[in-house]
This record gives sequence, C-alpha cells and structure tokens, in this order.
Amino acid sequence: MNILVCIKQVPETNKVAVDPDTGVLLRGGVASKMNPYDLYALETALRLRELHGGSITVISMGPPQAEQVIREAFAMGADEGVLLSDRRFGGADVLATSYTLSQGIRSAGAFDLILCGKQTTDGDTAQVGPEIGEWLGIPSVSNVRRVIESSPEGLTVEMDMPKAVEIVKLGFPCLLAVDKDIYQPRLPSYVRKKATSDRKIRILTLADMEDQEESHYGLSGSPTQVQRIFSPESEITQEIWRGSGPELCDRLYDKLTELKFV
Ligand SMILES: Cc1cc2nc3c(=O)[nH]c(=O)nc-3n(C[C@H](O)[C@H](O)[C@H](O)COP(=O)(O)OP(=O)(O)OC[C@H]3O[C@@H](n4cnc5c(N)ncnc54)[C@H](O)[C@@H]3O)c2cc1C
Repeated sequence: MNILVCIKQVPETNKVAVDPDTGVLLRGGVASKMNPYDLYALETALRLRELHGGSITVISMGPPQAEQVIREAFAMGADEGVLLSDRRFGGADVLATSYTLSQGIRSAGAFDLILCGKQTTDGDTAQVGPEIGEWLGIPSVSNVRRVIESSPEGLTVEMDMPKAVEIVKLGFPCLLAVDKDIYQPRLPSYVRKKATSDRKIRILTLADMEDQEESHYGLSGSPTQVQRIFSPESEITQEIWRGSGPELCDRLYDKLTELKFV
C-alpha cells in the first residue's frame, strides 16, 4: 500500500505577529512543530503499513525550514519526504494551498491512500483535506475516528459527525482526514532519527508541477483577501473564593446547580 501523509509545520505558540498590510503571518523566528493532528494521520499510516506493507511518503508545503517536520516524520517511521517550497507558493489561502498540494501530490507519485489531519492549530479551517480530494477527483471523508477494516482494495471507516456516526466504505485511491481519537501517536525514535539524518528530502518547486501557471499559486491564486486580523476580546471572568473546606464545598455545589451542571 502506497500511503501519502500531508503534514504541516505550525507555530508552537499562538502569539504569532501578523503583517498589518498583507494580513500574512510573520512566522520568522517563531519555534515550530508538526501540526498535532498530523501525528494522528502519520500513526494511522504506520499502522496500515504494519498490516499491509508498502511505503509511507510525507509531504509538506512551506518554507525550507519545514524540512524539520519531515525529519520528525522519518524519526517516527516514514520512508520518504517531499517538500513543496517556492517563493511563488507564499501567501496562499486555503484554495491555493490545497491546489498546490494536489499538484505536488501528482508530481510526487501514485498513492493508494492520502491521509491528512482533521485540521491545523494555526489556520484551523479543516478544508485542505477535502479540497485536495476534489482537486484529485478521488473520494474523501473527514472526521475519521476509527478504521474498522482495511484490505489492499480499500477501507471501512467510522466518521464522527456532529449528530451521528457514519460508517463508510471506500475503495482506493481515496483520502481520509483523521480525528485525534483514532490512535495514540508513537514517539519519534532516537535511533531512527540518527539513521535517517542524511536521508534526502525531495524539493519540488513550481517548475516541477504539471500546471506551471504562476497565477494559480500563492497570493495571486488566492481568492480570499484578509481585511483585518485581530485577537478577539476575552470574555473569561475569574472569581477567587476564600473560606473553610465545607463552606467552599457548599458554595461550589450551589454554583454548579445554578449553572445546571447538577
Ligand atoms: C489570504 C490568506 C493569506 C495567507 N497567507 C499565508 C502565508 O503567507 N503563509 C502561511 O503560512 N499561511 C498563510 N495563510 C494561511 C494558509 O492559507 C493556511 O494555513 C493553509 O491554507 C492551510 O489551511 P489550514 O491551516 O486551515 O489547514 P486545515 O484545512 O485545517 O488542515 C487540514 C490538514 O491539511 C493538511 N495541510 C494543511 N496545510 C498543509 C501544508 N501547508 N502542507 C501539508 N499539509 C497541509 C494537514 O494534514 C492538515 O492537518 C493565508 C491564509 C489566507 C486566507
């Protein structure tokens, strides 16, 4: 089974400055990590490879430092890495990001299964996975919380919808966007990290894409225009209660009753 996992490098903190003119995130100098949901996607790929054999490629779109998350994926057990990196991809909104990824996936090879995280912790739209599915013309399902059955022909999975659980059967090729309950991600291995430290990562630029029309990528390929970015005002209020244990217990009970928790 040839599996591709989409992984994104995200800031470790939510205190990232925004360019006031362009609305673009200023990520320079901010510590980054692999998007937490993508760890679950990678763990799903590793488990399927354990069952059916094959190979796992990870792909990321981002600046050269996104190589870091690809190396982390190697230390968890991924076989190959592809980085889509070109200044002309910068400033992409969700549509341009998913288009660039789909073009990169076409250039990277043929895959039975594409796995994404459900969403990221910075952009947070949860749209990239389904959009890649659309661009590639393959079926996709989101919010996948369990793989019920897998075979070399396809998968049966459980989707966690807001008011129902849906069980879906898919043939390959297909795309899944996985939720965090699916499996517990394994830790990266130090031995594997050392063993893969000089493994080559394939870098793809616009010149490697089937569609080389520059206006389809980056800021110019993005119909979304950010007008203003600001932190919402916090509405959280805090109360500090003092008193004896029994008094505080009574007060807490009254409060929970008032809030209809009991
Ligand atoms: C007008 C505009 C300008 C923007 N400019 C910039 C910019 O200059 N620089 C910038 O970094 N961001 C920019 N963004 C944010 C960027 O568009 C989103 O971060 C990107 O589209 C991914 O969306 P998301 O984070 O909501 O992903 P989601 O849809 O929440 O992610 C779902 C899954 O898709 C996969 N995925 C998502 N993004 C990637 C990726 N890059 N590589 C591999 N897999 C991925 C992962 O598996 C992830 O778990 C801009 C957004 C807008 C609207």
